[in-house]
Amino acid sequence: MSSVAQAELRQSLREAFGPRLREGVPLAPYTSARIGGPADFLLSVRSGSELETVCRTLWGLGVEFRMLGGGSNVLVSDAGVRGVIVLNQAKDADFAITDQQASVTAEAGASFGSIARRAVDQGLSGLEWAATIPGTVGGAIVGNAGAFGGDVSQVLKVADILQRPDRREQWPVERLEYSYRTSWLKRHPGEAVVLSGTFGLQKATQDATRARVAEFGAKRQQTQPPGASWGSMFMNPPGDHAGRLIEAAGLKGTRQGAAEISTRHANFFINRGGATAADVWALIEKARQEVRRQTGIELELEIERLGEWNVSRIA
Ligand SMILES: Cc1cc2nc3c(=O)[nH]c(=O)nc-3n(C[C@H](O)[C@H](O)[C@H](O)COP(=O)(O)OP(=O)(O)OC[C@H]3O[C@@H](n4cnc5c(N)ncnc54)[C@H](O)[C@@H]3O)c2cc1C
Repeated sequence: MSSVAQAELRQSLREAFGPRLREGVPLAPYTSARIGGPADFLLSVRSGSELETVCRTLWGLGVEFRMLGGGSNVLVSDAGVRGVIVLNQAKDADFAITDQQASVTAEAGASFGSIARRAVDQGLSGLEWAATIPGTVGGAIVGNAGAFGGDVSQVLKVADILQRPDRREQWPVERLEYSYRTSWLKRHPGEAVVLSGTFGLQKATQDATRARVAEFGAKRQQTQPPGASWGSMFMNPPGDHAGRLIEAAGLKGTRQGAAEISTRHANFFINRGGATAADVWALIEKARQEVRRQTGIELELEIERLGEWNVSRIA
């Protein structure tokens, strides 16, 4: 963006949002891996209606933006984002429980894990697999988050979607065109915003739901490393596991700066403290190249890059 265009953008954002507009905000603290340069502009929203108003206003001004939920599935570049980030902290949730059925409608900025745990504590089944997944409901709906055989596509009934420039509609789950860790939303970044999602639940007992969460939690602890990361870096290729392939390529424990391919699970890349996005990207490239060279398999990223990169601009 030219400096004139940048100055015009700043001016129109200041007029529209006043002191709510934050400028030059480091994004690392808003990501699970604690990596990423500043967003030129950041707007935090705390309710669903605020989210809707902010998005409509930005699109009305012709300004593109990207959403940030928990920042647990994005690698933000060291240069940061030359544009607007909307940080979603709208967290309300309503449980609807009748004799026959149950559901929860949660705003997109709610923690997906805590919604799942609230369901579990009420003896409602369906989201036990999600109790330990970081990030927000919005991020989970975009990425079809999943674990232990469950995923969003199996439990989401409907999502409240605001589509550029100003169309708000209830999308039934089919319209999100889900497949493994992806959706229409993930394939069309910046085109639409999730305001909330409604998930179907079944009545069960607290003992049963809590036992499943404990079982999944124990499995996670056994197999996954602690530390600042994104969870799985790559999607599993058909019939195989990205972690197995990276390990077989001899890359467990490989370091670039303070970024490391975990010694416990090779599909987890860890920020050991002070890693840069460039360090992580170098490790990603190394893993891809070695796996390709040794097996011919092309690893596909599960996470998304955000911000200004030398190779291509994402946000
Ligand atoms: C330790 C660890 C373990 C993990 N384990 C799992 C796992 O078991 N299974 C799994 O699937 N994932 C896992 N993840 C990855 C991550 O938690 C999920 O992908 C999560 O759903 C991302 O949510 P988020 O809010 O952090 O999304 P973000 O990283 O903030 O955003 C991801 C994408 O969604 C977009 N987005 C976010 N909110 C909205 C919205 N309201 N409207 C439109 N677009 C939006 C963003 O622009 C971005 O494109 C793990 C991550 C960590 C750190």
